[in-house]
Amino acid sequence: MTTICNTLAAVRGRIATACAAAGRNPSEVRLLAVSKTFDADAVREALEAGQTAFGENYLQEAAGKIDALAGQGAEWHCIGPIQSNKTRLAAEKFDWVQSVDRLKIAERLSAQRPEHLPALNVCLQVNIDGGASKSGVAPEGAAALAEAVAALPRLRLRGLMTIPEPAADYAAQLTVHRRARELFDALCARGLALDTLSMGMSADVESAIAAGSTMVRVGSAIFGARPKPDA
Ligand SMILES: *Cc1c(COP(=O)(O)O)cnc(C)c1O
Repeated sequence: MTTICNTLAAVRGRIATACAAAGRNPSEVRLLAVSKTFDADAVREALEAGQTAFGENYLQEAAGKIDALAGQGAEWHCIGPIQSNKTRLAAEKFDWVQSVDRLKIAERLSAQRPEHLPALNVCLQVNIDGGASKSGVAPEGAAALAEAVAALPRLRLRGLMTIPEPAADYAAQLTVHRRARELFDALCARGLALDTLSMGMSADVESAIAAGSTMVRVGSAIFGARPKPDA
């Protein structure tokens, strides 16, 4: 029988194999389990199997799960697009927001982060392959946005997040992921203290790790196919 415990172990195995192939230590790559569309019971099962970091796209859906599982050690990452009138829920409920792509959103998150919580961890979402309809700051704009976000008092800028278009093969995936790594390194060279490059999903964990990902976001390979196609 396929259980979340088994699929998690299989994904951890893929990460370990990819790290070995790249000459990297597996402790350098975190696994974010993307639980969007799956219920709190599925998340609880993953928690019991030792998984602590969870990614959610839809704020309202996530808020219910976050409340249901309060106090059980889960760390919640918002990875979906945020409208500026929805920032409060993100600032109040999440530990990380990886989908910051403009200053207005960052300013609102900083202003709305409750005093009793630590600074909100954020990543800038970068439109690394230039998809016309996609969210994400253009690579050329990333440095200026990063410096402005890093200066906000209630945010802690951790790094970059990318969601490239599905690529035809491993080599094509690698080319795009390497571009993200170069941008990440360039920002670090400007003096920004970044530690997170969030890239790689169920279909491209291996190429992302080869290119230097420090966090892979895996949904369907852990929880199964989602009921409806995701936007
Ligand atoms: C849904 C989603 C994932 C997980 O995708 P899978 O292909 O199911 O692994 C990762 N990142 C983001 C931003 C997502 O929206």
